[in-house]
Order: sequence, then C-alpha cells, then structure tokens
Amino acid sequence: MASPDTPKTIPVHRIDLPRIVLVGKDVLFLLNGICGELGFQRALIVTGKSTLKVAGERVQSILAGDGIHSDRSIVEDAQLETVGRVMEDAQKSRAQVLIGVGGGRSIDVAKLAAAKTGCAFISVPTVASHDGIASSLASVKGMERPYTVKAVSPIAVVMDSGIIADSPYRFTAAGCGDVISKATEVEDWKLAHRDNGDYYGAYAGSLALMSSQLIMESAEKIRQNTAETIRDLLEALISCSTAMSIAGSSRPCSGSAHLFSHALDLIVDKPALHGEQCGVGTIMMARLHGLDWEKIRDSLVMIGAPTTAVGLGVKRQKILEALTMAQDVRPDRYTILSKIRLDRASAEALAVETGVI
Ligand SMILES: [Zn+2]
Repeated sequence: MASPDTPKTIPVHRIDLPRIVLVGKDVLFLLNGICGELGFQRALIVTGKSTLKVAGERVQSILAGDGIHSDRSIVEDAQLETVGRVMEDAQKSRAQVLIGVGGGRSIDVAKLAAAKTGCAFISVPTVASHDGIASSLASVKGMERPYTVKAVSPIAVVMDSGIIADSPYRFTAAGCGDVISKATEVEDWKLAHRDNGDYYGAYAGSLALMSSQLIMESAEKIRQNTAETIRDLLEALISCSTAMSIAGSSRPCSGSAHLFSHALDLIVDKPALHGEQCGVGTIMMARLHGLDWEKIRDSLVMIGAPTTAVGLGVKRQKILEALTMAQDVRPDRYTILSKIRLDRASAEALAVETGVI
C-alpha cells in the first residue's frame, strides 16, 4: 500500500533492450534454441521474396527441426496495409512471435505488426544497411509521418555474419553511412539542449558518437569486407540501437542528416539507400556545425559509400530542394537546420562547397 509519503508521480525512465543478441557466422542455426528458451512454439516468418531464398526458408526448416511450427508472410513493401495483412496472418497462425528475416522492409513490417498484435519480435537481418535492425523504431510508409515510429524492441537479434558478409557490399557501405551520420546527429541533439531546452542524455549521446568515430577509424578495414570488419559494423549498429533505447527516442541517431534523407525520400522517385543519403547529408550538416566535414567525406570515400548527388543517383535540383525543406519534414525536432534556415542560394553554396553537387 502506498505510504502517505509516496510521491504522486515517480519519474520513470523505461529502457527496453533485446534480451539476446547473437553475432557470428552460422548463428542462424541457433534460432530454434532461442525460440525454445523463450517458450515459443508458433512463429510467423515475415520475409521478402528474395530474402526467403537467402535465409527465410532456412529459418523455417531450422525451426521445424525442433518441432516449432511456423508460417510465412511474404512482404514486398513497407506500407501500412502490408502491416495490416501481416497482423491478420499472425492472428490466423496463432503466432507467439514474429520473426523478421530480411533488410529494411521485412524487419520494419514485422516489428510494427508485432507491436500492434502483442506478439514478440525477433530480428534476423540479412543486410547491415541501417540501425533499425536492433531498435524498437519502425519506418513504415502510409502513416502521417515519413520517419520512424515507436514499435517494439526485438526480444532477440540474430545477426549471421556469414549471410551479411555475402550480401551486396552496397548495403554494408550504407550501414556505415548511417553510423557515421551520428557525428552530426549527436551535435544536433546537443544544440537542441543548449538552444531549445530539449532533454539531452550524455550516455546515449556518447554511445552513438563513439560508434560513429569507431567506424570512421575503421574505414580502411571495413573496405576489405571481411567477417571481422562486418562484426565491427554489426556491433556499431547494435550500439546505435541501444543508444536510442536508452534515450527513449531516435534522438541520438537522427538529426539534420536524417531530415535531409527523409526529404529526399519524399521528393525523389527512386531514392538511394537510407544510409547512403544520411552519409551525404552528414557531410553537409557537418559543414554547418563547423565540424571536420572533410574527414567525414574522406571516411565515406574510403568505405566506398556515395558522397555526391551523382553517387546517390539524385539530380542536383532535388538535393537543393531536400536541403531547403528538410527541417519542415519534422519541425519539432530542433537541429542545425532550425538555427540556420537554408534558402535556395545558401543550400547551393553549401552543396557546392562540400562537393556534393
Ligand atoms: Zn538512420
């Protein structure tokens, strides 16, 4: 019973983290053990057509080997209607856990469908292209906001470095871009604290920043694309996800460079990969922050990630449009673009100076 001294509201900071994280070659074969340990007997595998071949079918037979029943739900996009269909599939198959097997789409859809149905969620990424693979946030199209929404933290993350090392290197390089972007995203967060009175969590901020620094330092090694360097990236992505969980939002990992990427997603017919766009955005936002933008660009060049509009396959005009509209994509998120409002001329000067156009 509450004593008379019990305060009416106790400030609670809830941090949801994955219970099990497995990184290594062939860890996929441990998935049945994990499901058994967590008491799951019925699973729904959410995967794409190509990722079904890469890992989805294997997941199903691994589970079947231990008598765990699983059904499949094939997703080809990350639209809200697809989430609804997966929710129906989950209910029909009486799944206790949704296992997202794939890249961005399968993971995002499974994560949000799990949150909405109350099922658990296990993340099995086949590429390492962004930090959503271990986070509680999902990016789904068809919602009123073009950025991530709160879903559910994976109860387990199974990162088979063999499968990820075999994926096209472009995805790995994009994952590095997403991690490196934390250099400016954390600066945005600090700025929001100083100028806008936003909450700033030094631990979460430092963790995200450290991940960015480590990946930049390892740029040459990463280019060799070995199982060891993939591991560095996977651990960095886990650290970024953890930083978001500790902060309770995407704040340590998503600032002005992400707003630039979200803006491109809205205005370009065929956007580049999320991490590629964030990397290019980081070069320009670092210049605005007065950071060493050339070091960031050189790291991206070394890794083999795009650093220009041409590299992204995006027209010069779209880069300028994205720069001028980026802050309006999410006005409540205070960043360097809230402080320095770019018009067409200043956006062009920035993009030219940093060699993006
Ligand atoms: Zn990101």
